[in-house]
Amino acid sequence: MMNVPFLDLKAQYHSIKDEVDKKLVEVCENTAFTLGPYVEEFEKKFSEYLGVKHFVATSTGTSALHSALLAFGIGNKDEVIVPVNTFTATAEAVVMVGAKPVFVDNDPVTYNMDISKIENLITHKTRAIIPVHLYGMPVDMEKLGEIAKKHNLIVIEDCAQSHGAKFKGKITGTFGHAACFSFYPGKNLGSYGEGGGVATNSTEIAEKIEKIRNHGSKIKYVHEFVGYNYHMHGFQGAMLTIKLKYLDGWNKRRLQIAKRYNEMLKDVKDVVPPFIDDNCEHVFHLYVIRTNKREELKNFLNDNGIGTNIHYPHPLHLQESYKFLGYKKGSFPIAEGYAPKLLSLPIYPEITDEQIDYVVEKIKQFYRENG
Ligand SMILES: *Cc1c(COP(=O)(O)O)cnc(C)c1O
Repeated sequence: MMNVPFLDLKAQYHSIKDEVDKKLVEVCENTAFTLGPYVEEFEKKFSEYLGVKHFVATSTGTSALHSALLAFGIGNKDEVIVPVNTFTATAEAVVMVGAKPVFVDNDPVTYNMDISKIENLITHKTRAIIPVHLYGMPVDMEKLGEIAKKHNLIVIEDCAQSHGAKFKGKITGTFGHAACFSFYPGKNLGSYGEGGGVATNSTEIAEKIEKIRNHGSKIKYVHEFVGYNYHMHGFQGAMLTIKLKYLDGWNKRRLQIAKRYNEMLKDVKDVVPPFIDDNCEHVFHLYVIRTNKREELKNFLNDNGIGTNIHYPHPLHLQESYKFLGYKKGSFPIAEGYAPKLLSLPIYPEITDEQIDYVVEKIKQFYRENG
């Protein structure tokens, strides 16, 4: 039996081990543990990579979203439109500033927020939209941008899963007024702990976020407002600077893997593989299929040494934590209908073609036996 873990961060570490080990020692020798030169270097490199004026590093993707919403002055009585099919942090940040998340169902093909359903949800309280480029698939930012412009709404992209992804040749993180990134270890660009940050072309917003992450302070011990401790660690800045060099190559490999899966799975009747749009450069943070036999298939693959996952088992409006918003079962038929069918297969740059073929072979075997 072959072993195919859902994610293999150790394999990636080993591929860059010499650089990483040397750098860790260097950070210790320089005792540059929080913010400081290694974080500043990463901020510079990542803003250049994106082609934006500013990138302000933070402690996590969640604190990046929180800081961005605060910087735009979004708070009490405001409404923010977010997809219902996303990681909880997207909506959590909206609640953290005292505003109300307004959920949108997902597009049945792309899994991203259904843009055609946004305008119906806009009220006089709506201030912002947070599109999530889910699984690494860019949202149609042209259509979304038109709606935002027409209604004078702030757009904050959630790029936690889309580092390097492009929509019509333009990189995600450069369409909105700001964009939030997560560098959680398993993301396409992952740190060795936690990390995040906000990209923006607005100097005013960038300066605000620099203060928000640092106790409301620009000058040491002078506090203009009550802020947060959202510093990025020096280690993380140093690791991310190393890993950024490999990001495009890793993303390319992810797309190749996805295409291999798609090609090999196309005759499996009960499997709907992800949509690959020629207008986009999808970076496949996750490779998500739909199947009517999700639980049985998941167990079968697990018994054969293959790790899988579910993103996400419960649409946000059905979570206990968002019960107070008053949504009911049936509010978002696409997301609810899909949730029991989603299955994420192993995808990471270091997975071998043999491992991919093994996963597909086991899926085919499952259907031969359980057709
Ligand atoms: C990972 C993730 C976040 C949160 O990032 P953290 O660094 O874990 O706080 C936010 N939004 C989405 C879509 C994510 O996948």
